[in-house]
Amino acid sequence: MLAEAIDDISPAVRANAACNDLQGSLTGVFFSEELQDIAAAKALCATCPVILDCLEGAIDRHEPWGVWGGQMFLNGKILATKRRRGRPPKTPRPEDQLPDIPVPVHLQGYLRSA
Ligand code: SF4
Repeated sequence: MLAEAIDDISPAVRANAACNDLQGSLTGVFFSEELQDIAAAKALCATCPVILDCLEGAIDRHEPWGVWGGQMFLNGKILATKRRRGRPPKTPRPEDQLPDIPVPVHLQGYLRSA
């Protein structure tokens, strides 16, 4: 898990987190601006047994940044989409395809449009 960023996270979530390698080596991936990193972080979240707890905790803490619970955060809100800077390519890059992880219905009020 993102050890240096998550002192407020419950021990149960921390212990079962798919991103918890005890060294924080994935921090750069979960707090990257690069779409391929964000895609990799979201893909790992999709396998995580504590994804809902993580997402709810990130909302409670008003996380300012990063991927939490399978979603991108900005200033405490869930970003629905993100795209690369500049003109979009004519053919989408496969590495830029973000995994679609639905936001649970009871948390959709925290979605923010780009
Ligand atoms: S949902 Fe993602 S950010 Fe949250 S603990 Fe699991 S892998 Fe880490």
